Amino acid sequence: MPKFRKKPVEIEAVQWDGTAEGATPIIDWILSRDVTATYRCSNPERCAEHDGDTPHSIVIRTLEGDMSATVDDWIIRGVQGEFYPCKPDIFAATYEAVASASATTEAAELEKTASILSNIRVFAGLHRSAEDTVTRVITLHEQWVAAGPPPPGASLARWWDKRLAQLHNAIQPDATTEK
Ligand SMILES: [Zn+2]
Repeated sequence: MPKFRKKPVEIEAVQWDGTAEGATPIIDWILSRDVTATYRCSNPERCAEHDGDTPHSIVIRTLEGDMSATVDDWIIRGVQGEFYPCKPDIFAATYEAVASASATTEAAELEKTASILSNIRVFAGLHRSAEDTVTRVITLHEQWVAAGPPPPGASLARWWDKRLAQLHNAIQPDATTEK
């Protein structure tokens, strides 16, 4: 059968610490998007007697009915703008933080710098190699001057061949040694 995978989507999400203080900005966020959400106490009587020591939840009204977020749950605003709670283990397995714009820019800058440095290294290498070639040719020229003109009776063709081979070797030492 043909295979498919999910397209990456970006969602907004916030984790609730289970407290009333933590619930306030989350509920405000949901209400600001015209979705109903309430802070609910599971047992108001016990809550009053035990100084808040009773489970609380954020109840979100969704198209599929009310959904409750409890302590450590994430509240997600999906791609359609819908809100829903998500258990922390599911959230961790499903989502990862999107790199911030500044972090992305920084990474791009680093990459650019690395590329420039690499180019400088290549050019420096070429420059060094050109300098070496010039030095070898000058040295060779000095050797030829010191050697003087071809001796009388010597083959002029062979004398030139030898010098051309030396010159070639001075310009392209690697190519010559590879052969
Ligand atoms: Zn309560």
